[in-house]
Amino acid sequence: MKTILTGIRSNSVLTLGNYLGALLPMVRLANKYSGEYQFNVFVPDLHSIISEIDGNFKENTLRTLKYYLAAGLLVNKNVHIYRQSYVPAHAELCWILNCTATMGEMSRMTQYKEKSEGKASCNVGIFDYPVLMAADILLYSAEFIPLGEDQFQHIEITRDIAERFNHKHGEVFVLPAKTAEQIKFMEIEKAIRIRDLISPEKKMSKSTVAENSKIMLDDTPEAVRKKIMSATTDSVGVIHFDMVNQPGISNLLQIEALVSNRPLSEVTAEWDGKTSYGDLKKQVSETVAKMLEEFQARLKEISDEDVILLLEEGEKYANEIANAKLLEVQKAVGLR
Ligand code: AMP
Repeated sequence: MKTILTGIRSNSVLTLGNYLGALLPMVRLANKYSGEYQFNVFVPDLHSIISEIDGNFKENTLRTLKYYLAAGLLVNKNVHIYRQSYVPAHAELCWILNCTATMGEMSRMTQYKEKSEGKASCNVGIFDYPVLMAADILLYSAEFIPLGEDQFQHIEITRDIAERFNHKHGEVFVLPAKTAEQIKFMEIEKAIRIRDLISPEKKMSKSTVAENSKIMLDDTPEAVRKKIMSATTDSVGVIHFDMVNQPGISNLLQIEALVSNRPLSEVTAEWDGKTSYGDLKKQVSETVAKMLEEFQARLKEISDEDVILLLEEGEKYANEIANAKLLEVQKAVGLR
């Protein structure tokens, strides 16, 4: 069975934008392909320490994984969750691949250039990030890696490093699919972008300071109602789905459709031409408040121990696969 691999950052509390734009699509992808693919969901904790960690890292990891479970991720014999640092082969393969990757190609990586620009000093982890990522992918012979567009360059470099290694040492690595195939697989053109409630021309982001601009996954129903009822709309006075001229109203229609799991066309047909923005806001408030209440209830039922048990199982599986590939690599370069 081929493998799909995705890394989920162990973040702080997430927004409704993260939920609808990243969490749910990933959960649906995992549940859709389980049976056809192995689906590896890992927390890239070694990648995270290239910068300062906010808050309690271990707690954040468990909370993020609980979000995925509460959103419906079904961990089973084909869907595995694990922490990168609990599978030592990642760091070891990274070292071996460091001896194949070149300074020149790493210096050309956009993420490295952006993160190091203007800094007097920059840690080696930031520079070496793509090689560790290549190890994450190649250890499991992953074909598809659903990630943000900013990471495509790192998938391309993974292909280059693997190809160069294979050329020198024999056919050890399976190359991940090319960028164009990754895009097709992820259906990126359909990517969802939930807007900021106060400035709907921007995307909803957890780093925005104004609390009313974003719905957080731990918001109470009262907070949800207050935020949605005060969302910015427009002076057109008639409801139409038109992201350019009526981004606030269109954002609410989009949220209503996604949260109630109905096609956007059905929701827009229901509201198109109506004039009461207040009624639409009330409806969306209720839909979101209800969804979050149910989500939070499911979240409460998942204990730390539940997650740790799943992680331990996932890490046993990951270590088996990764260690077998690492041994192949070690033999190929002459270490074993
Ligand atoms: P970030 O919160 O920027 O670290 O993003 C984490 C994930 O959530 C990424 O896959 C983003 O594309 C996704 N995401 C963040 N904000 C939104 C949003 N407002 N709408 C849709 N997806 C989002």
